[in-house]
Amino acid sequence: MKIVISEFMDEQSVDELRQRFDVVYDPKLVDKREELQRQLGDAQALVVRNRTQVRPELLACAPQLRVVGRLGVGLDNIDVPACEARGIGVIPATGANALAVAEYVIASAMVLLRGSYLSSASVAAGEWPRSQLSEGRESAGKTLGLVGFGGIGRLTAQLAKALGMQVVAYDPMLDAGSPVWTATGARCASLDQLVAEADVVSLHVPLTDATRGLMNAERIGRMKPGAVLINTARGGIVDEAALAQALRDGRLAGAALDVFEDEPLPAGSVLAGVPNLILTPHIGGVTKESNERVSAMIAERVAEHLLG
Ligand code: NAD
Repeated sequence: MKIVISEFMDEQSVDELRQRFDVVYDPKLVDKREELQRQLGDAQALVVRNRTQVRPELLACAPQLRVVGRLGVGLDNIDVPACEARGIGVIPATGANALAVAEYVIASAMVLLRGSYLSSASVAAGEWPRSQLSEGRESAGKTLGLVGFGGIGRLTAQLAKALGMQVVAYDPMLDAGSPVWTATGARCASLDQLVAEADVVSLHVPLTDATRGLMNAERIGRMKPGAVLINTARGGIVDEAALAQALRDGRLAGAALDVFEDEPLPAGSVLAGVPNLILTPHIGGVTKESNERVSAMIAERVAEHLLG
């Protein structure tokens, strides 16, 4: 049986799959559309990250496909109903990269509140901007607002609690009586309350019709002056132009974005040159350890699906 892997995967897991299957592994296959379509012609499995668009056009090139493994979570690049209609299993690596994202959020929150990252260039240039950076804030006692309180949101809450932060969360799937609130020590809030109260707002919702544009100009405008915004969820959830304006105006103290409306960020993006903004190339969930965990989980589950 043949497995096509179109984006990067931990080599050890690829080798394990090679012992049992005919494996085509090319981390750049995602950018070679015709080659990908050709390779899928006789493949039973496809393994992707978030860039390969598994839409009906691609599925039509894969008549023997039985399973799609997703090296991560977030299925917005996969047409799940179209897969289901064909009886193709879709397997995400649920939980395997949650710690990487949670640590990214906490690290970003601390660095943004403190502002310390702003001094590297000037200190290296012989300046000493000590007084300008003397108003950095501690995370202890601050309120972290988590929009979406699933796997990653809850793990982030656990780390934040250990730092002495207060945690509020908004998740319409959890009612106020859910045992999750007592188990995590987070307070249940409406989105409006959360946005108004939080010193750090962090997004952990999937991209759906309901979450697209969730952090629009109006909601960004209702954030506390001096608050910071972190988006590791998906581009499209934050209005990038409205965020850029809030940072330029100094109403928000900072933001960290790991995901964007268009990836890679296009030349001339509204986010270019915006102050107090940390940009990373969709690596919130990717660490050496999480890549190993995610790859091992998907290799095992895809193999089970094909052989079981
Ligand atoms: P999850 O499914 O465990 O949790 C998502 C939560 O969002 C659920 O509890 C759900 O009830 C809630 N939700 C759904 N619609 C909502 C809405 N309209 N408003 C508020 N809450 C809503 O998923 P997770 O593992 O916590 O991951 C969350 C998202 O993070 C993923 O969908 C993915 O897009 C993103 N992600 C990004 C990276 C990265 O590298 N940057 C890595 C992993 C996950």
